[in-house]
Amino acid sequence: MTSITCRRILLKLSGEALMGPDAFGYHGETLAGIVKQIDEVAALGVEIGIVVGGGNLFRGATGALSGMDRATADSMGMLATVMNALALKDALMAAGVPAQVMTAVTIAHVGEPFERDAAVRHLEAGRVVIFGGGTGNPFFTTDTAAALRAAEIGADLMLKATKVDGVYSADPKKDPSATRYDELTFDEAIARNLGVLDTAAFALCREQKMPLQVFSIFKAGALKRIVHGEAEGTRVVP
Ligand code: UDP
Repeated sequence: MTSITCRRILLKLSGEALMGPDAFGYHGETLAGIVKQIDEVAALGVEIGIVVGGGNLFRGATGALSGMDRATADSMGMLATVMNALALKDALMAAGVPAQVMTAVTIAHVGEPFERDAAVRHLEAGRVVIFGGGTGNPFFTTDTAAALRAAEIGADLMLKATKVDGVYSADPKKDPSATRYDELTFDEAIARNLGVLDTAAFALCREQKMPLQVFSIFKAGALKRIVHGEAEGTRVVP
């Protein structure tokens, strides 16, 4: 295999990634597969930050649709991401991978409050740091939290794990002629209206010149191939 091209990465995992084929919650085998990929990369000495979503449990927009106040519903969504951070930490620790949860919303005894310097120290000490609670603010998403944490920890690369293996010219489930891009610039993604990340996250990555890799976490060994600089999914570059 080629040599490692990343020293520190930020991985965005959606809540849905944790539920696998189920409609809600956690799917043990899927979680184990994700942990295996993280373990493989941590074993190479790559420092790993993870921002986890909450869509497998609760989304603020769904709560608002059923009549809840949006900011309150978003607080519930942020708590869902903390639950996922704990589930992921538990699965990593059980596999022997040291991990620490840091939260953007302070919940004493559950996780450490997010603080940038402390996060960097955990990473340098070889712990996988799982950032729960999104940005800590309603009306944002965990994509934005991922872009923010990637910039804050000085990640070399942000990785967005999706169900499909990259960015396509159209939805491959609806359009059989859709083709996958191997590489795109941020400007091309905007011009082609590809919706790679939400707007705030996209703007932050673009401004910070943070390269982004969109890939499927369900392909065995994908994470390891990416940190070795091998082609996998789609790379969005400044
Ligand atoms: N959320 C929020 N602020 C943030 C990040 C997340 O309010 O900075 C809430 C929001 O309600 C969102 C939910 O947390 O719907 C779960 O996050 P997201 O939808 O991004 O999760 P994913 O779709 O990646 O699983």
